[in-house]
Amino acid sequence: MHTTMMDVPLSLNSLLERAGQLFSSNEIVSRRPDKTLVRHTYGEWYRRTRSLAAALKALGIEKGDRVATLCWNHHAHLECYFGIPAAGAVMHTLNIRLAPDEIGWIAGDARDRVLIVDDVLLPLYRQFADLHRFEHVIVYAFSGQPVPEGFTDYDALIGAADGAAFRYVDHAETDPVAMCYTSGTTGRPKGVAYSHRSTVLHTLVASLGDFWGLKGSDVVLPVTPMFHANCWGVPYGAVMMGTKLVFPGPHLHPEDLLDLITAEQPTLSLGVPTIWMGLIQTFDAALQADHPHYGRWKLPRGMRSLVGGAAVPESLIRAFDQHGIWLLQGWGMTETSPLATVSYPKAELRNVSMDERYRRAAMAGVPVPLVDLRLRGDDGQDAPWNGQAMGEIQVRGPFITGSYHGVPVSEEKFTADGWLRTGDVAAVDELGFVRITDRTKDLIKSGGEWISSVDLENALMAHPAVAEAAVIAIPDEKWSERPLACVVFKKGQSAQPPELSAHLMRHHFAKWQLPDRYEFIDALPRTATGKFWKLKLRELYPH
Ligand code: ADP
Repeated sequence: MHTTMMDVPLSLNSLLERAGQLFSSNEIVSRRPDKTLVRHTYGEWYRRTRSLAAALKALGIEKGDRVATLCWNHHAHLECYFGIPAAGAVMHTLNIRLAPDEIGWIAGDARDRVLIVDDVLLPLYRQFADLHRFEHVIVYAFSGQPVPEGFTDYDALIGAADGAAFRYVDHAETDPVAMCYTSGTTGRPKGVAYSHRSTVLHTLVASLGDFWGLKGSDVVLPVTPMFHANCWGVPYGAVMMGTKLVFPGPHLHPEDLLDLITAEQPTLSLGVPTIWMGLIQTFDAALQADHPHYGRWKLPRGMRSLVGGAAVPESLIRAFDQHGIWLLQGWGMTETSPLATVSYPKAELRNVSMDERYRRAAMAGVPVPLVDLRLRGDDGQDAPWNGQAMGEIQVRGPFITGSYHGVPVSEEKFTADGWLRTGDVAAVDELGFVRITDRTKDLIKSGGEWISSVDLENALMAHPAVAEAAVIAIPDEKWSERPLACVVFKKGQSAQPPELSAHLMRHHFAKWQLPDRYEFIDALPRTATGKFWKLKLRELYPH
């Protein structure tokens, strides 16, 4: 017997069409570099997005070609989210926080043909322009200033294109729509390519009531950068439901975010713990009658806030709940689209105490539908879900990557039976709540951005005075984690921290990636197999 259902491919284009048809008067607000707000309707956004698609086709962009973005969060970036796939191409978001030579390498690896860049980010582009030659560089005049000579003006390009006559490029639901690079523990970053199918399924699942709980009447504030795992996929959901969007642009300072929140009163926001930590400290300080900003800000009671990318401390959840704002923790990776687990109050928790609710809210949460999750112990067996036994989280599902772009599938990342090895270690309890306990991948996550310990170690060991170096993450209230470098000098040699940091900057580390602390020791502890024994170092330097 055959199914009687239509074989219509899942497609982002149908979300775009729906928004144009149903939500044309809803608003998309973007904050510009000069802090003024610019407002578009979904109707305008729809027309501009289709014009972008038409313009890309006219430039000769073909199915499967990569079009990169180097942009802050704003309406034009959202146009790219839908306009690039509508043209049959693949949106490749470049991470502006990476070192310029890394961005250049990534653009080359993805073979990006076109770059769409904010004018305010042109200084960054110029630092990697020699490493990868784009055929076209299209500049969005985010600052409102004229686009510099020699570049294509984004607004002029789409203004001249015939969006109304645009015809979607035929596609299969498994065709790619977007790609995003993840930081490599060792070696180069690797590309994850999302399809129409994976993106639509992820959007549908994540939008469910217990997770994002998206409603058309929501006002969504995405603080998570749009170059981070597609802004956790929220822009797709917002367009699907036509929710009002409020984009913060480049202004992520707590005071700026509080001004925007007070003005636009979002009902749903998203960002890493560092953002919310800074925000609540600034807000609470201003509650004192003698504070210069006393009375300036109002937090929207009832707002939900999606927080993830790093562990969310229980104290942060409690601090926001004092103001009627609930932090909903999620766990995931660029590889998982990214939402894989969410900590929501399951029915079994209906009558538990508030202490128990907070405790669970501080866990990574329960796997979402379509995500299979297992814990693999060192012995290769599945660890039981008893809240105690630990193992590596392995996941499988239709919005989880099964390989990396242009890289042979390796045992280090994927199991022989087809599960993604996440490099996160956890215990799962009887209710299915995942509690992350450790990370096997040698990376430090600071303010939601990765720092590779291995890269720092290699660069430090290239210093003439250094014999050995091991870098570990130490917990940090503001940044979640910060790097600490343990250094052994060669006999009779030494160097001071400023000199080591200057040396690292010459090795192209950004300032925020430098170790906060150096510990000079006689020898590094080693494991039986001769590797640096980081567990021991973490015991020695717990904070
Ligand atoms: P994202 O852009 O979602 O942060 P990344 O791929 O950069 O995705 O990072 C994924 C990694 O971040 C996870 O493997 C895990 O180590 C860490 N992470 C994400 N969410 C959490 C969380 N809620 N608790 C602890 N660690 C987390």
